[in-house]
Amino acid sequence: MYLVDQLNQLNAQDLLRWASGTFGESLVISTSFQREGMVILDLASQVCPDARVITLDTGRLPEETHRMIEIVRERYGFRVETVLPDPKEVEDLVVKHGPNLFYHSLPLRMLCCEVRKVRPLMRKLAGFRAWVVGLRRSQTPSRAALVKAEDKDGLLKLSPLADWTGERVAEYIRLHHVPEHPLYASGYTSIGCAPCTRPVSDGEEERAGRWWWEQDSTKECGIHLTPDGTVRPTWDVPLGAVLRGANA
Ligand code: SF4
Repeated sequence: MYLVDQLNQLNAQDLLRWASGTFGESLVISTSFQREGMVILDLASQVCPDARVITLDTGRLPEETHRMIEIVRERYGFRVETVLPDPKEVEDLVVKHGPNLFYHSLPLRMLCCEVRKVRPLMRKLAGFRAWVVGLRRSQTPSRAALVKAEDKDGLLKLSPLADWTGERVAEYIRLHHVPEHPLYASGYTSIGCAPCTRPVSDGEEERAGRWWWEQDSTKECGIHLTPDGTVRPTWDVPLGAVLRGANA
C-alpha cells in the first residue's frame, strides 16, 4: 500500500489506475456530473472502466442532471447508481420545517443537506474502502488545502484533480469531447440542487451561485467541509444531534 504522501505525488490518471488495481470493487467514484466529475469519468473509462459510479439524487435535482445520467450510461457504459435519502427522514424534515426550509436559515439549510446528501452518502460509502471525488483546490478558498489522498476513518478519499485549474479542466473537456452538463450553457458555473443554484454574473466566484442568499457561509453542503470551513470531524452524527443544532 502506498503512503498517502506518495499518492499525493501521482497524476490523476495514475492515481485512478492505482486505486482501481488496489481496491477493485471497493473503489467508488461519486459525481454530480459537473465538469470535474465528467473529467474523472472520462479518465476512469480509460484506466478503470469497471469502476462503480454513484450519484446523489436528493429529490431536488434539476432535470438536466438526470439527463446527464443517461448521457454517461450511453457514452461510457457506467451504470450510475443513484443514492436516495431515507424517505422517513425527508418526510419528517418537510413536515416539521416545510419543503423550502433552506431559505430560512443556515442551520436549516445544513439540515436539508444533511438529510438529503450527507447521510445517504455516508450510508452508501460504508460499503467501500476508497472514494474518488472531483474537488479542486482553486474552486474556493475553503478548498485551498485540499490534498489528493487522505485517510478518513479507514476510507481513503481521493481527489485526483486537486491540483488542476479550471482552465485545465475546460481544456481537457474540449480536447476529449467530454459531454457537459446542459446548465453550463445557461450561465451556471457550479451545479447542485435546483432551488439552491443559480447562474452567476461576470466576475462572480465559481461557487457564487450555490446558496446565493447566504452571505458568510463557505458554500459547502457538509460532505467535504463543515459550514465554518473545517474538515468534518466525524460522519457518524446522530440525526437527533443535527436536528437540535438546526433548532438552536
Ligand atoms: Fe437541500 Fe438545497 Fe442542500 Fe439540496 S442543496 S440538499 S435542496 S439545502
